[in-house]
Amino acid sequence: MQNLKLSTKNFIILIAVAYLFSILVRTIWVYQFHDIDAFKWNNQLMINTNDGYGYAEGARDILAGGHQKGDGSFVDSPLSIVTALLVKILPFSFETIILWMPTFFGSLLVIPIMLIARVLNMEYAGFIGALLGGIAWSYYNRTMTGYYDTDMLNIVLPTFTLWATIYAILKKRNRYILLVAFFMVLSNWWYFQSYSLNLSMAGILLLYTLIFDREDMFNYKVLIFMLISLSQIDLYIKVPLILALFGFFHTKSDLDRRVIFSILALSILIIFATGGLDPIISRINGYLFRNSSDTIANEGLHYFSVVKTVREAGAIPFELFANRISGHPITFILSIIGYLLLIFKNRIFLLSLPLVGLGFIALWGGLRFTVYAVPILALSIGYLIVYISNYFKEKKAKWAFIAIATTAIITPNIIHIEKYRVPTVFTKQTVAVLDKLKHIASREDFVLAWWDYGYPIRYYADVKTFIDGARHSGSVNYPVSFALLHNQKASANIARLYAEYKERSLRDKNFTGTLLEQGMREYGKKSVNEFIASLNGDIKLPQKTRDVYFYLPFKMMNILPTIDLFSNLNPETGKNYSSPLFIRAGLIKRDSRSFYLSNGIQITGSNIRRGNSILPIEQFIVTEYDNRGKLHTRTKHLHIGSGIYVIYMKSYNQFLILDRRLFHSTYIQLFVLENYDPKLFEPTILTPFAKVFKLKV
Ligand code: MN
Repeated sequence: MQNLKLSTKNFIILIAVAYLFSILVRTIWVYQFHDIDAFKWNNQLMINTNDGYGYAEGARDILAGGHQKGDGSFVDSPLSIVTALLVKILPFSFETIILWMPTFFGSLLVIPIMLIARVLNMEYAGFIGALLGGIAWSYYNRTMTGYYDTDMLNIVLPTFTLWATIYAILKKRNRYILLVAFFMVLSNWWYFQSYSLNLSMAGILLLYTLIFDREDMFNYKVLIFMLISLSQIDLYIKVPLILALFGFFHTKSDLDRRVIFSILALSILIIFATGGLDPIISRINGYLFRNSSDTIANEGLHYFSVVKTVREAGAIPFELFANRISGHPITFILSIIGYLLLIFKNRIFLLSLPLVGLGFIALWGGLRFTVYAVPILALSIGYLIVYISNYFKEKKAKWAFIAIATTAIITPNIIHIEKYRVPTVFTKQTVAVLDKLKHIASREDFVLAWWDYGYPIRYYADVKTFIDGARHSGSVNYPVSFALLHNQKASANIARLYAEYKERSLRDKNFTGTLLEQGMREYGKKSVNEFIASLNGDIKLPQKTRDVYFYLPFKMMNILPTIDLFSNLNPETGKNYSSPLFIRAGLIKRDSRSFYLSNGIQITGSNIRRGNSILPIEQFIVTEYDNRGKLHTRTKHLHIGSGIYVIYMKSYNQFLILDRRLFHSTYIQLFVLENYDPKLFEPTILTPFAKVFKLKV
């Protein structure tokens, strides 16, 4: 059965079945959420990945024909370009297209899996691999419906490249070289970060050729095209160059090997001249050898390093690793056996090592890498299942075994998918706030918010933001963290400076440095802490050129301590100041004497109790919305000078316990208490989910 070649028609039917299966599985999430109104906007489910809003903004701006200078819009990103194109030609809404693109693009993975299997005469194994690979745990997570990100093709394109390479090397026909070049150029264009992977695919081909096929000039030709496809030269030069070189090779079939080696040497030179290994080295540095200190020095000043707070960049345990690649540790181990067997029987399959190897980097580099191993190991277990089935003499038993084994490897993934109920990034109520803001703010105005909200704010409100999913280093986060968590005066000052300095640096190339450096320079301060201290008082602010809005969502309270890390430090040394008191807990029970909180804390009279320890409360504040949505607050002054504040947010059924600094911070004062200084802020939109204030200075 292994060597039985399927007819083209039957082969295409198998691909179609696998593709449909992969799409159908991706409708489970839609079915689970389709009637939850809070997850919908414009009558469509919203996307479930933050970065997706960056690409959505880019696509929107392409369709609108322009964007604002320095707004960070992804108008040049391939995903945004393809999205804009699809919105133009398809009869569906923008929201529908971005929701479903990952479903239809991500499921394409079944095609190269099946194609590789066909070259190796194992189409049934390929079908099993396609069923599994299309929906395997981590691959599903990154290509599920609503996961609108480049991931939808990040694995598909390199797997196509692998197929084209294997195909070309086995068939030794010139025309297939163009396929290799086509997929490599496409993959490099779509997602530049796959450069390292693509380059190692060229590297493994070189090794393979040197070890097994040294005399074969054809392999070196393939290599030349791989390298040129990868070089960082403009597409308008690269594509004609590839075509010209192809024409040259095609017409001169018996070239002297010295000519081929010279061209190969030249293409290696081009790679080194146009970037070479730099992208690889910087990636390794970023992910594997993470800076072990908390802060990163930036021209003398020290900021908090954001890598510390990115969860996915960390080592993961074996079971999670295996689950993410195959759905189950047993499946994973069997896949590895199948993989070794497959390589043993088909040496050419060694070319898949970079994909599998990159998947294994997850063990050290974090879970984002597991997806790369998915297609190859899925194909490998398909191979093992069919291989074992050949030991069954009876045809019925053989097919029964294949059906049972296939179901067994797919089931854990389906169970995972059923349970993986990722919510949308935003809810209808918060989007409504941003949509309202869009009609109030101009496109050149700034909205100050934590970087997590950058892209969605720009997409829904069509404004500028200071930081976002791509711009969130310690130094650019500092002013935003500072503005959210310092007193209103300092907050207003730094927000105005940030907006005007940022715009000025767009126009004036000499106006460089981080905000703190710019501020020290402009105000003639010798030390950074002197400048920071001056923000607490009246300073002469630059001419106001645009409005600045503070976007303060309730949800931000979850990450308040993390946000604080970025500005609660001494930029001269990089040392964090002592961590603030910030406790948030739900109310479980109350009786006539006490409030009982979800974290075991008890509020009794004027004290906080936990176990035997007692802390006196300075102020006890109750906040509550009336039925018209207006906030009312009642304050009880208790132990003057204790420095501990308790806020009972009745409408949210939650308690906050804070120290003096956080209590007086702009976020708490404006969002939780609506206690704004009317000289500095004015309320623009007030809802229990998110509030927007306009800066008045
Ligand atoms: Mn814009």
